[in-house]
Amino acid sequence: MGFNKVLIENNFSGGRFGDYIREIIIHTYGGPGRSLWNWFNSAAAQVSAHYASFLDGNGEQYVEEWNTAWHAGVWEVNTRSIGIEHQDNGNPGDSWRTPEQYRNTAEMCASLCLRFNFPATSGTISPHNRYVQKVCPGGLSIERIIAETNQILAPPIPDNLYKVFINGNQIGAFSGKDNAFNAWYTNINSSTIKFNGNDVTQDFTNIMNILQQQVNDLTSQVSLISGQLSDITSQLTKSKSDNENLTKQNIDLVNQLKALQDQEIKLVDENSLSVGRLIGLLIIKFLNAIGRKSKQ
Ligand SMILES: [Zn+2]
Repeated sequence: MGFNKVLIENNFSGGRFGDYIREIIIHTYGGPGRSLWNWFNSAAAQVSAHYASFLDGNGEQYVEEWNTAWHAGVWEVNTRSIGIEHQDNGNPGDSWRTPEQYRNTAEMCASLCLRFNFPATSGTISPHNRYVQKVCPGGLSIERIIAETNQILAPPIPDNLYKVFINGNQIGAFSGKDNAFNAWYTNINSSTIKFNGNDVTQDFTNIMNILQQQVNDLTSQVSLISGQLSDITSQLTKSKSDNENLTKQNIDLVNQLKALQDQEIKLVDENSLSVGRLIGLLIIKFLNAIGRKSKQ
């Protein structure tokens, strides 16, 4: 693939004469690859092209792009274009070419479109016979070259979606695996799922089994925790009840203590009274004794 640079010394004009590259002219020729170099380089030829694309997928470059090659047969077309020759089987009118040749040409066309900023259309990739009465480029398909060039310029978006099918009919395409899983799981008995064209239903079934196991484990754990919660609640209730009983006992004890204190005060009072009386009696006795003594 590609184009090997083997520049010729004759049959081209230096520069673009005020014009600029905005078109590709497609040609066909019979004969082996290197025969073109010999012909284009000989002063007698008076013709040339920038590139040649061979049937085996290889190619050659004969003229620098910034120079004007002599290929279109019309000077104004030459100054604005790149000429690409295409090897054929000697019968240019038939459509026998190779995929490798089309591919190599398309890659060069895409490169030119990108570097010189013009689109790949039927207006910019032209058959030689658009400008002169000739068979060239014969059975070569300009449409195919344009199509393959555009494929390279704008490659289709890769198919990296998860596609869900029910009974063989696609019901959705998802970039996210979890969304695809949900769509598949909703119709689990009748659906299959493909990624990039491959059936990945078994992968999703494996994921589902793992998830199911996790759900089972979690359910067991929830059950266990529920039991523990129930036990703790019972213990709390019992503690509360014990606490209430203790508080009640405490109040009773405080009351009993108060009653005892009252009794004690009462006893002390009675005691004080008795002491007072005793002293009184002693005084009376004492006075009586004195009285008796003085009477004697
Ligand atoms: Zn031609």
